[in-house]
Amino acid sequence: MKPPRFAYHDPTTVPEALGLLGQFASDAKILAGGQSLIPLLNMRMAHPKHLVDLNRVSELAYLEQRDGGLAIGAMTRHRAVERSPVVAAACPLLVQAVKQIGHVQIRCRGTTGGSIAHADPAAELPAVLAALDGHVTLVGPSGRRTVQSDDFFVTYLTTTAAPDELLTEVWLPRLPPRTGHAWLELAQRHGDYALVGVGALVTLAADGTIADARLALTGVGPVPVRARAAEARLRGERPSPGLLAEAGRLVAAGVEPEGDIHATAEYRRHIAGILSGRALERAIRDTPAADGAAAAA
Ligand code: FAD
Repeated sequence: MKPPRFAYHDPTTVPEALGLLGQFASDAKILAGGQSLIPLLNMRMAHPKHLVDLNRVSELAYLEQRDGGLAIGAMTRHRAVERSPVVAAACPLLVQAVKQIGHVQIRCRGTTGGSIAHADPAAELPAVLAALDGHVTLVGPSGRRTVQSDDFFVTYLTTTAAPDELLTEVWLPRLPPRTGHAWLELAQRHGDYALVGVGALVTLAADGTIADARLALTGVGPVPVRARAAEARLRGERPSPGLLAEAGRLVAAGVEPEGDIHATAEYRRHIAGILSGRALERAIRDTPAADGAAAAA
């Protein structure tokens, strides 16, 4: 299992990396944590003539509260996100989700930008971006642009980023007060990609009704999937076991997973509904009240 021959470049700044990408265009691949790219190279499923390694571009590794949200530099490792008090305060759903990525060794190398750019619909971070309606920043020869999550993921391992664009930042908005969160997933073994994952966010109004609800799923389509019909059914309603079960049924009815060697499409659909109901229940149970205490179940 050896990769095809390639030329290796290790820029130390963003402009230097962009220069290399502009020079080699679709003959080049960016190397971040290498946790997805290196296996693809070794299996000869990717044949870049040039690798542009971002590991010495230190300006791309940061976590900051900015513009009413959390800004994450592309080269920030999963492990840094997992352990950051800034992330714990600004985006606890992300902490729950990132802890589910592979094993600790993988999280010490894998990066936020790499996971989002790789666009695996089974991965946690693209679904977190979708749940939060976040955006990414891309920098290329024609300048800088931001792209909303809905407009970024196209299909399996495919995004709207051009080959000569660098993903430099992921931005997630801060949640409104009285918002509870939960990330739940089902995997065959600890550390495996989940068969299905669900991120739930629920904002309660002062009278206890659901002001807003968001559900984003992994493993049930070619991109991270928002369960819009279930979200709409929940808004304005008072939480009850019957309502959450109905939302779960709407999720199951609305997704179109594919079957593979790990699970049939029907099993994934069933699990998507069950996990969604449970994630909503947990998010509501843990919704902080105005005084910071958790809401009653
Ligand atoms: P790389 O592998 O270096 O790159 C991935 C792709 O993104 C490449 O095409 C690369 O060119 C491109 N890219 C990277 N950075 C940029 C950038 N800044 N701008 C533009 N393009 C860029 N992931 C999960 O989400 N959940 C899991 O459960 C999980 N389990 C895993 C288990 C194993 C055994 C392994 C080996 C990996 C697992 N992963 C899992 C993958 C891991 O999260 C990777 O970190 C992630 O998919 C890719 O991040 P990376 O930094 O390693 O990117």
